[in-house]
Amino acid sequence: MISIENVSVRFGAVQALRDVSFTAPTGCITAVIGANGAGKTTLLRAISGLVKIQTGDIKINEHSVRTISTEMIARRGVAHVPEGRGVIGDFTVEDNLRLGALSSKKVNLQKGLKEQYERFPVLGERSKQYASTLSGGERQMLAMARALIAKPSILLLDEPSLGLAPLVTADMMKTIRSLCANDGLTVLLIEQNAKSALRIAHEAVVFYLGRVVACADAATVAADENLRHYYLGLLN
Ligand code: ATP
Repeated sequence: MISIENVSVRFGAVQALRDVSFTAPTGCITAVIGANGAGKTTLLRAISGLVKIQTGDIKINEHSVRTISTEMIARRGVAHVPEGRGVIGDFTVEDNLRLGALSSKKVNLQKGLKEQYERFPVLGERSKQYASTLSGGERQMLAMARALIAKPSILLLDEPSLGLAPLVTADMMKTIRSLCANDGLTVLLIEQNAKSALRIAHEAVVFYLGRVVACADAATVAADENLRHYYLGLLN
């Protein structure tokens, strides 16, 4: 479970998060949706310890991560797949996966590689290929596999559908659903593609200008027409 408790983050004059509170339950997909600049990426970076929070607290399974390092947060089972994938283009697919395995002491590399190639067969076929030569969808798979090889219990996904064709996005959403349903992962899914995210999520949180404007089960959020202008960006 991830508990966000009255979190505020400021970058100079910009108040990116304002007194944000919500809970992402264990074993569920929680979608965080909102227009550009709403604070979604900042939230994920705060959970991973990549940005300092000004006030409030963030707890992973009831333990505060506010004062611990990014590495320690990763060791507590949190994996972060950043926007833009974050894979290393000059490394092969397999070398990217090896790097992912380094963040956890409990990984058996050969077993981990096998598992990820079974989950994403196209990565197995392209294991010796440079990551820079992969398609957008394949690169997103590699970013996810690199995170998963460390055996996290919590997966933070920042815009996994960014730049992907609708069919590839649909496949990606199926994969995320299965990570939760079959592997028991807790997923925090940041998406501008609110429709796709709400379709697979259990819970949803709507952000607008750094604030939470709604937090409910995903079906309720999807059905609430009054909320749509926040996440469809019509107020921008
Ligand atoms: P998008 O969907 O466009 O990626 P977002 O909802 O993820 O947007 P954030 O990237 O979290 O939003 O940005 C929230 C606000 O904080 C924006 O106004 C952004 O310009 C600002 N911001 C984010 N990171 C920094 C930073 N390192 N320095 C200064 N301002 C920042």
